[in-house]
Amino acid sequence: MKVLKRSLKRSNEYYARATKVIMDGTQLYSKGTKINVQGVSPIYLQRGKGCHVWDVDGTEYIDYGMAVGTLILGYGYPAVNNAIKKQLDEGTNFSLVHPKEVELAELLVEHIPCAEMMRFEKTGSSATTAAIRLARAYTGREKVIRGEYHGWHDWCLANSTHNLGIPKVLQDYVFTGKYNDLESYKMLFEQHGESIAAVITEVIEFEEPKDNFLPKLKELAHKYGALIIFDEVVTGFRFSLGGAQEYFNIVPDLATFGKGMSNGMPISAVTGRAEIFDKVHEHIFISTTFGGECLSLAAAIANVTELHEKKVPDYLWDIGKKLKNDFNKLINEHELQEYIQCIGLPPRLNLSYKASDKITAIELKSLGMQEMVKRGILFTWTIFTSFSLHDKDIEKTMEAFDDSLKVCKQAIQDNDVKKYLEGKPIVPIL
Ligand code: PMP
Repeated sequence: MKVLKRSLKRSNEYYARATKVIMDGTQLYSKGTKINVQGVSPIYLQRGKGCHVWDVDGTEYIDYGMAVGTLILGYGYPAVNNAIKKQLDEGTNFSLVHPKEVELAELLVEHIPCAEMMRFEKTGSSATTAAIRLARAYTGREKVIRGEYHGWHDWCLANSTHNLGIPKVLQDYVFTGKYNDLESYKMLFEQHGESIAAVITEVIEFEEPKDNFLPKLKELAHKYGALIIFDEVVTGFRFSLGGAQEYFNIVPDLATFGKGMSNGMPISAVTGRAEIFDKVHEHIFISTTFGGECLSLAAAIANVTELHEKKVPDYLWDIGKKLKNDFNKLINEHELQEYIQCIGLPPRLNLSYKASDKITAIELKSLGMQEMVKRGILFTWTIFTSFSLHDKDIEKTMEAFDDSLKVCKQAIQDNDVKKYLEGKPIVPIL
């Protein structure tokens, strides 16, 4: 497959301007330059349709980032766009609450197993922060165990490598457990059991839960009087309409939703047992001006309705299964399975690269991404499928992937990635 003739001129021009006025040139590290191959990957995207995007220099790509997983339906999806346009004419935000808040809440109660009561927020971070505050208020305890990244707020990142600006004292209030490693949680509960308010974890990232990890974790948290919170910011509406909790058939006390909720509009939710909200609501303060912003509410209602009517999560499973099989088939044909593998369950996939003799895993992943982007396939850190991804897109992707694997294999055989890497290797975020 031919390498595209591309220009990054306008991308680079915008970036040069951005670095003077925007810290790191981005609002989200996952969209920033460091997480892509600098010098090869476009920096600025201008528009999108379905699963295709066009950068500011006019090059078209098949997008596997799908706006950081927020677009389950796809760019410019008519049912959602029309709902937003209709709402725009009626008003974007009001002086009093709006009926769409009730409609959306009822819709989520209908579909999400743990959802009895909720609050809307704007971002995944503010939803998880609200969940932690609810859990602390409900249990009267202050410490939490987190699994992965649950947002940029103080409570979560206090014990991370990027904790500059966060009061040191908060490091005593958050611990990290390891997915599928119940012992790591048991040890933390044995040490701090009396003061743990909640465990917050993703239901699944790429590794499948083993040995009944999720029910055992829930049981452990409850044994010590802590709540279990599922962070479904990524998995929600994707693994099943009711989230990964529905797929794995395990109901948490609280759960957070965000990315997949509204096909790209800024809205998130914290939801769970009504009794938790009822107990604390008079003395807790969770309140935000744009929580009832109506374009996002309208988009979310249209999105969830469409996901339900078109059985979109089933489609994500089917198309994701095909994508994963096709990736791994080609990897096997090139005898690269020792180094490269498509991992995860179909609604949330990733290409995992392993180090060879003198090539780090990150360098090899960078090379793989570089060769795809040169051929019009935009791979980001994670691969997100959508309702707009079709067989013909996958066919094109595989043509590019075949070439990308040839280059990776050559680099491994030569034990030299620098000869092939045309830009800077990506830098993981946290
Ligand atoms: N939870 C998870 C699991 C996430 O992946 C993210 C963001 N990637 C967040 C929370 C935070 O969401 P936001 O960036 O919308 O604040």
